[in-house]
Amino acid sequence: MLAADQVAYGVAARVVDPEMPMLTLEDLGVLRAVQVEDDGSVVATITPTYSGCPAMTSMRDDLVRTLRGAGFADVRVDVVLEPAWSSDWISERGRRALAAHGLSAPGPAPRYDGPVPLTLVPTRRAVRCPRCGASDAALTSEFGPTACKALYRCVRCSEPFEHVKEI
Ligand SMILES: [Zn+2]
Repeated sequence: MLAADQVAYGVAARVVDPEMPMLTLEDLGVLRAVQVEDDGSVVATITPTYSGCPAMTSMRDDLVRTLRGAGFADVRVDVVLEPAWSSDWISERGRRALAAHGLSAPGPAPRYDGPVPLTLVPTRRAVRCPRCGASDAALTSEFGPTACKALYRCVRCSEPFEHVKEI
């Protein structure tokens, strides 16, 4: 990586997720690459967490604004869909940040070879209470304040908490 690329990457890596601001786009695994072209323009490559995620437009705008603010006048954001984002891409630092803010980090993402089975019952997850660490939690809602989170209540300490889903 060239020095200019590193500077631009460092700036872009500090942009936070609009829905989970304790996570940077780097922590989230959304920021794939940042490159400074020969003409000085910057190309940031991102992969959306899931298709149709309403936060994507904000992420794009925030990246452009932040890079421009750091002196990169010409900024382009490319969206790459392949390989698809997985919650496994959330960094260890990101997982610790989620826990520190009372959110339960996703477990290992499911892997499918071939067709993805669809079921009508809620997905079973190994969830740990971010307050007391108990692994016994009851699902209260499959959807939280954003579609990527489910709501649980700890059976031991009664803490309600959000769990970032595995995908
Ligand atoms: Zn608990």
